[in-house]
Amino acid sequence: VLPPKGKPKWLRVKLPTGKKYTQLRGLVDKYDLHTICTSGSCPNMGECWGEGTATFMILGNICTRSCGFCGVKTGRPETVDWAEPEKVARSIKIMNIKHAVLTSVDRDDLKDMGSIIWAETVKAVRRMNPETTMETLIPDFQGISNHLDRIIEVAPEVISHNMETVKRLTREVRIQAKYDRSLEVLDYLKKNGAKRTKSGIMLGLGEKESEVIATMKDLRKADVDVVTIGQYLQPSKKHLPVKQFILPEQFKKYEEIGLEMGFRHVESGALVRSSYKAHKHIH
Ligand code: SF4
Ligand code: SF4
Repeated sequence: VLPPKGKPKWLRVKLPTGKKYTQLRGLVDKYDLHTICTSGSCPNMGECWGEGTATFMILGNICTRSCGFCGVKTGRPETVDWAEPEKVARSIKIMNIKHAVLTSVDRDDLKDMGSIIWAETVKAVRRMNPETTMETLIPDFQGISNHLDRIIEVAPEVISHNMETVKRLTREVRIQAKYDRSLEVLDYLKKNGAKRTKSGIMLGLGEKESEVIATMKDLRKADVDVVTIGQYLQPSKKHLPVKQFILPEQFKKYEEIGLEMGFRHVESGALVRSSYKAHKHIH
């Protein structure tokens, strides 16, 4: 563990390159398409786009929640755009995306919490891109089964919901969320027909190794198939500070522990984001 002064060398990334990346970048700029990959300047763009994977955010850019780690703005959310499902589907077609990750801000202000737009988006993407597989990285919908059922019904290949951190730090890191509720959501999804479930945690927020392992065990108890583990990086000075840079060996250790516990896939590494290598997780 290193003191959090300056980024260690394994966190320095090269600018994205590759023919496919350059081609997609041109299309994104030309048609003003919105991906999280570009708005969050994700370090994995060269790799993911090269493999035909990208992440799209729906239901606006303003969130009703204010998690201490997240760079998305909080405030009064935008009005729902009922044409959004079609727009996302069209972006996926233009970019010729093979595996799309969909995610959204939390919409605690809406009666359906955004679940109708969610389901419509999955349907529109499938209609326009029958070959494209999907992962839906959903909010907790406050654990309400009606909303979760809408996602299960449209049957994306993977349904994910991130724990983000260990139990003890959840209040500080995701103020409006609850550790147990997120676990219950994952458990509910699997028991009610989700083909494959997935969750992610960030490290470097002050968690102990034993707490990370306990979280992984809880995920297995909820029969979660895939876990992603990455380094937390502070989006701005106003966000939670990085307490530790986790060493590459430690990430490797979590990967081995996770595979032993029976996860189908464990992506564990400093630059891992929840949608990193997402196309692999459908298998
Ligand atoms: Fe996009 Fe996710 Fe890949 Fe980053 S890790 S480039 S956000 S798909
Ligand atoms: Fe960010 Fe999601 Fe938290 Fe909203 S709910 S602040 S989008 S992590």
